[in-house]
Amino acid sequence: MTENGDATPLVRVENVNKNFGALHVLKDINLTVSRGEVVVVIGPSGGGKSTLCRAINRLEAIDSGTITFDGQPLPAEGKALARLRSEVGMVFQSFNLFAHKTILENVTLGPIRVRGIPREQAEKRGMELLERVGIDSQAGKYPAQLSGGQQQRTAIARALAMDPKMILFDEPTSALDPEMVQEVLDVMIGLARDGMTMVVVTHEMGFARRAANRVVFMSEGQIVEENTPDEFFTTPRTDRAKDFLSKIL
Ligand code: ADP
Ligand code: MG
Repeated sequence: MTENGDATPLVRVENVNKNFGALHVLKDINLTVSRGEVVVVIGPSGGGKSTLCRAINRLEAIDSGTITFDGQPLPAEGKALARLRSEVGMVFQSFNLFAHKTILENVTLGPIRVRGIPREQAEKRGMELLERVGIDSQAGKYPAQLSGGQQQRTAIARALAMDPKMILFDEPTSALDPEMVQEVLDVMIGLARDGMTMVVVTHEMGFARRAANRVVFMSEGQIVEENTPDEFFTTPRTDRAKDFLSKIL
């Protein structure tokens, strides 16, 4: 049982299959994510990691199996789907900020438009979140005026502004210059420490070792191996995992 006393997993993925035409991209995937848990998903390109993330917040429909979030099957449409999307934050490799809105506006837009929060209140909270990710001094600037690391921290603040129950990170540092990777990982490590439920697709071993409760290794549409970060990185069990690790470590 977790701190808030609710033992239901936040996410439960059961026997999920997904095809893109003739391509079987998710093959009988089973995965649960508990409240407060940090799950790192790792594996070769094309293995289905992004598709799995997208399926969890219903950006992608599945062909068979079930996904439940907070005890309920994922809604397919309407208000329930909008609520799901606001409860499951997503941070992408490519930031996806609104170029013609300021940093603060990027963070307050969702709360104002989707949640109906008064502007003043949204801005106060927005500034607190920008402070939390260390870019409150940049609030009035536009995304193009910021470094990649600062833009990605803005994207994290924007996700947090919706008070999500979990955040999915899909290779959040892959598009960053090397010197900016750590500042984003530090923010994520802080979130993990504060108890945020997170699914993180990343090849950043340092992050996995410091923040992950569990590593899930995905290859060719299957979950091949699931273990603690220590066990996974020191004694991978399968040849596929060993082979992958030998290429990235
Ligand atoms: P990963 O994130 O692990 O690199 P993806 O989930 O992005 O893997 O992709 C898994 C496979 O599905 C790849 O072969 C990819 O080309 C294919 N794929 C992903 N999205 C689509 C799509 N919208 N249409 C067709 N094929 C897709
Ligand atoms: Mg991907």
